[in-house]
Amino acid sequence: MKIITDERCTGYSSIGHPERPLRIIGTLELLRNQTELPITWAAPGKVDNAQILRAHSAEHLTRLNEPEDFDADTPFYENIGDYVRASVAAALDALKSARAGENVFSLMRPPGHHAMRNRAMGFCYLNNIAIAVLEAAARGAKRVAVYDFDVHHGNGTEAILLDRPGIAFFSIHLYPFYPGTGATNAGKNCFNYPVEPFTPRETYRAALARALDDLKKFRPDLVAVSAGFDAYVRDPLVQGALVLDDYYWLGQSLRALGVLMFSLLEGGYSRELPELIFAYLKGVEGK
Ligand SMILES: [Zn+2]
Repeated sequence: MKIITDERCTGYSSIGHPERPLRIIGTLELLRNQTELPITWAAPGKVDNAQILRAHSAEHLTRLNEPEDFDADTPFYENIGDYVRASVAAALDALKSARAGENVFSLMRPPGHHAMRNRAMGFCYLNNIAIAVLEAAARGAKRVAVYDFDVHHGNGTEAILLDRPGIAFFSIHLYPFYPGTGATNAGKNCFNYPVEPFTPRETYRAALARALDDLKKFRPDLVAVSAGFDAYVRDPLVQGALVLDDYYWLGQSLRALGVLMFSLLEGGYSRELPELIFAYLKGVEGK
């Protein structure tokens, strides 16, 4: 398993914000101290503006340097533009590793799946996964699927990838819930699997399985995973239902597709986040 990370991504925070450095620090500690899963470590490289501008407007890129909060959830931090670019670079490196046949996970913050073409929102500034998927398409990938199991709808990813040929988006999330979208399918290529709050675990897992079946029918040659761990039953933000084993199962089920894939960390705010990520990675690695 290759983990792309850079401890510098823990360099920004605001008091009381759930998207906090400990998410990465705790996960690094667990991964470094375990012996079950051999890990290769890599640091993210660089990203060109041209790669970002496939998914975002030039105005939005400039806006990242203006010292003003984006919304109540999404503060401006000093040098946030640099942190965001490192997270995007890790996503692009994860894509490269996947195309070389490696099992790979980008362990970075900030997350990205709520970021819109023109707007930062929901703890997200640039859409890491959409940028990586558009890069894959530009480099010749013919059929790319995004599987988003974060408990929130990947509204930014959907908006950016809507009706792009050769790309399909599958999102399983609670609805009605933040960000308020994802009740129905969108365009020709965005498939949503809304789950009602307080749904039992079995039903939630059935929705995840249904989305995977539909993804299989799309016959992707590359799968990009928005790996959010906030559908976990003890996540503090959400009325989720999943347990630790479900994340192992998710990793295993994605592995069973037998398709090149990479995963990027999105949400996940519980104290058990490191264990959830570890279970997922073991599933992906077939351990
Ligand atoms: Zn989330």
